[in-house]
Amino acid sequence: MDDARARELLLALRADTLGRLTGLGDARQDVVDAARGANVDDEHDPEGTTIAFERAQLEALGAAATRRLAEIDAALARVAAGTYGRCAVGGEPLDDARLEARPTATTCVAHS
Ligand SMILES: [Zn+2]
Repeated sequence: MDDARARELLLALRADTLGRLTGLGDARQDVVDAARGANVDDEHDPEGTTIAFERAQLEALGAAATRRLAEIDAALARVAAGTYGRCAVGGEPLDDARLEARPTATTCVAHS
């Protein structure tokens, strides 16, 4: 895969992931506002349990999106360094089909 295509795929993925993170931030604020409005006690109020659960879910999703962003940035750094699209284990070039499906892949299918 050429660098221009790799960059295009990675930047689209990056914008998508950033958008998701922003959406999660908004959702988290909603949960915080709901908690404040309901004046709940997390431990004893059933509603509080739901809010704590929702907050934990959002935090997990946020952590996953942040990890994803780091993977994308690492892939962009490999493009800049000229090492993108090579298997980190065997050094062989990765299939274009694999990179189209998973632009942040660091290994070939056999070495994954
Ligand atoms: Zn390999």
